[in-house]
Amino acid sequence: MKAHDGMYIDGAWRPAAGQDVIEVVNPVDGQVIATVPAGTAEDVDTAVRAARAALADWAATPPAERAARLAALRDVLVARADEIAETVTAELGSPLKFSQAVHAGVPIAVAGSYAELAATYAFEEKTGNSVVHHEPVGVVAAITPWNYPLHQIVAKVAPALAAGCTIVVKPAEDTPLVARLFADAVHEAGIPAGVFNLVTGLGPVAGQALAEHPGVDLVSFTGSTAVGRQLAAIAAGQVKKVALELGGKSANVILPSADLAKAVNVGVANVMSNSGQTCSAWTRMLVHRDRYDEAVELAAAAAAKYGERIGPVVNAKQQARVRGYIEKGVAEGARLVAGGPEAPRAEGYFVSPTVFADVTEDMTIAQEEIFGPVLSILKYEDEEDALRIANGTVYGLAGAVWAGDEAEAVAFARRMETGQVDINGGRFNPLAPFGGYKQSGVGRELGVHGLAEYLQTKSLQF
Ligand code: NAD
Repeated sequence: MKAHDGMYIDGAWRPAAGQDVIEVVNPVDGQVIATVPAGTAEDVDTAVRAARAALADWAATPPAERAARLAALRDVLVARADEIAETVTAELGSPLKFSQAVHAGVPIAVAGSYAELAATYAFEEKTGNSVVHHEPVGVVAAITPWNYPLHQIVAKVAPALAAGCTIVVKPAEDTPLVARLFADAVHEAGIPAGVFNLVTGLGPVAGQALAEHPGVDLVSFTGSTAVGRQLAAIAAGQVKKVALELGGKSANVILPSADLAKAVNVGVANVMSNSGQTCSAWTRMLVHRDRYDEAVELAAAAAAKYGERIGPVVNAKQQARVRGYIEKGVAEGARLVAGGPEAPRAEGYFVSPTVFADVTEDMTIAQEEIFGPVLSILKYEDEEDALRIANGTVYGLAGAVWAGDEAEAVAFARRMETGQVDINGGRFNPLAPFGGYKQSGVGRELGVHGLAEYLQTKSLQF
């Protein structure tokens, strides 16, 4: 057990204002592996002041130099990739191979993409007799969740720094260790003091103090819709900008012409990956009634193969929450074809990969985000029915369409109320905008659209 000290503020680790600590638990066995300081409003204030003091110089730093610092940051992340993967595995419980490929690999790709964008983006452009300047929004408050702990931080820090903003990050209480490692990486990359600051702490204490701080210009939040709504209300009171990445209940639409086995297997893998703790997971599989029974059989067999390989969920509370949803699915009449509410082992926070058939739209498990390894398979009559079901939740974050003909899948995807759709499987693209329609959020992350969230425009007329 390691007791970590300090907050990374103004270019150095500084003692926390208070004495309270947060315990970090390994979800594989429930053991406490470390503690970090629980930040207070005083720590937040010190960090925001540091970010504000650093803003003018960083905003005036030529974009090519900001790009060079981001490229250096990417290189440090590459050099420390094993350490990142091991840290995420320790605090999130994800299998090491997955941590290497995704929890370390994706942030490296994203940091690299912003090193390039900072160098190439047109921060000034002409329109008629005007020159439009794209200027940094100012001081950013980033509040992040635990599910992809480093990615969620880098998806905010890299575009903010590329834009010329300075930032204070409040990471999730379950996964502060990789956030601390990231602060060291920022330091090693030579990013000037005050440009990046880290305050660990509880959401309703440090997170709320950060969102409420008058020295913050933009609140960028990823997490639950409930907290997002609260933060948007706080920001509205001060007319601050907000960017919100919230929950999802994405549909995986398998059209009758699709390669069924492939669509089902990839669909199950998508839901089980990261133990189902992915906001964009395709948690509703929509299958035509003629192929429904075959799809259910394939999905049950695929899920059974995962066993405990997917790793646990993040903590006891999430485990109980997911179990509650599985019990509710059974109570509401869905048919369990894989997994179930019983934990597959006594220690740690494991959940069995679970598949429900005969799920109808009105059921809780078809409407609410579970955030665990639970797939619901719904039956549709025809394409219009599939579209109605796909669009029939308050969310709209991601989705998938499978068809024999790509054009057929694209035509369907165009009618979906959602921010991102994978066609016949798709592949992750760090430059593609990611974000939600409806209650899945406000704004976009990644690529040039993500950069735009951290910029405001000024036009000069001649
Ligand atoms: P959460 O909303 O409880 O916490 C997210 C962050 O907000 C944490 O850092 C937490 O400390 C902080 N927080 C909590 N209460 C706060 C408050 N009152 N004021 C300020 N900050 C506060 O969410 P979670 O349980 O960590 O994550 C799970 C949820 O997040 C799921 O619903 C999931 O869909 C969503 N999520 C969405 C995305 C996305 O990109 N859209 C990504 C990951 C997670």
